[in-house]
Amino acid sequence: MKKVIIIRYAELFLKGKNRGFFERAFEVNIKRALKDVDHELIRQSGRYLVVGFDEELIEEILERLKKVFGIHTMSVAYETEANMDSIFATAKLVCKTTGSFKVVSHRGDKKFPLTSIEISRELGGRLLSVYHDLTVDVHEPSFTVYVDIREGGKALVFGEMIEGANGMPVGTAGRGLLLISGGIDSPVAGHMMAKRGMTLDCLHFHSYPYTNMQAKEKVVDLATTLAKYSCGTNLYTVSVTHIQEEIHKKCRPELMITLLRRFMFRIAERHALQISAQCLITGESLGQVASQTIEGMTSSNSVVEKLPVLRPLVGFDKNEIIERSVKIGTYETSILPYEDCCTVFLPDFPAIRPKIKDILAEEKKLDVEGLIKTAFESMEKIEL
Ligand code: ATP
Ligand code: MG
Repeated sequence: MKKVIIIRYAELFLKGKNRGFFERAFEVNIKRALKDVDHELIRQSGRYLVVGFDEELIEEILERLKKVFGIHTMSVAYETEANMDSIFATAKLVCKTTGSFKVVSHRGDKKFPLTSIEISRELGGRLLSVYHDLTVDVHEPSFTVYVDIREGGKALVFGEMIEGANGMPVGTAGRGLLLISGGIDSPVAGHMMAKRGMTLDCLHFHSYPYTNMQAKEKVVDLATTLAKYSCGTNLYTVSVTHIQEEIHKKCRPELMITLLRRFMFRIAERHALQISAQCLITGESLGQVASQTIEGMTSSNSVVEKLPVLRPLVGFDKNEIIERSVKIGTYETSILPYEDCCTVFLPDFPAIRPKIKDILAEEKKLDVEGLIKTAFESMEKIEL
């Protein structure tokens, strides 16, 4: 019997006057997730159907759709003829033989002779007559059999609701530049913004040759995973080796991280403006490490002139972030031991509350513009 996938969207975003805009982005994202899979996407009132795919690929298709924001739930349904005998025969395929259950019916085709309540009653009765260990519980059933009578003489029968990624379709909330390290936090931060509909580009700073190629591969892996949620991404890499060396040579060691982060933010903002990104996104969380005190954030934020810096994890505990990272599939990669640039030249005692006058005094010793220019010359772009 033919299988179809029902996609239900998180209803809120399809209401109101921007409906067409959201719907188009949603459809594009679904098609993009399934771009190398033969299928047809059919829009129906209140939902979409994916049909015409190779049923051997069903798990793969579901895995991909689970990463499409805006999908509220999905079901794999059998398509059958819209008559009670066929529906009953199909329902036996999705119905368990023991436990409590109920039937939920929806009559999309009002010409079908039974009302939805009558369909549920009739089908429930038939299932009880063949599976004697079943009981009906309409309030808290252990499982549900769903019947959906469609136009055109077809019915869909299914038993499972698969949780989708929820959120808003990517492409409906602007573009953000994620500062991505090899750590646990920044991929989670990017995921959270993509879930709100933001298109992501990624920027990574490395200290090659102090950091190795495996460290870069790790970031490529993380960005590749993120790309599945954000409908693709560009990963830009920039070397800050020369900046770290220069700071190391000329400045007070306890301000190393503070000074480096100000360079990162300057470079990030300029690059964001070049690629029409509308904000910077970081994985900072208040108090997590020495540079993430409010004073540390103020010092790096103050070099960003035009764009907001979004820190979706600012109020999260590390264990909450880890939980999310496991869930989105970045954790295993993030905990690989390869260092990103920040651990090179790490001072023993970084300044926890850096003072702006000290920072400015140290920066006077550096050719800030020249160092930024050299950094941009090292930029590489990887399309994912
Ligand atoms: P993460 O787990 O994301 O690496 P972290 O706890 O190690 O974060 P920091 O090293 O202080 O914290 O970095 C804070 C944020 O700064 C990161 O979440 C990321 O957004 C950005 N960042 C840090 N290092 C880099 C880097 N090498 N390239 C790009 N962005 C970076
Ligand atoms: Mg880090």
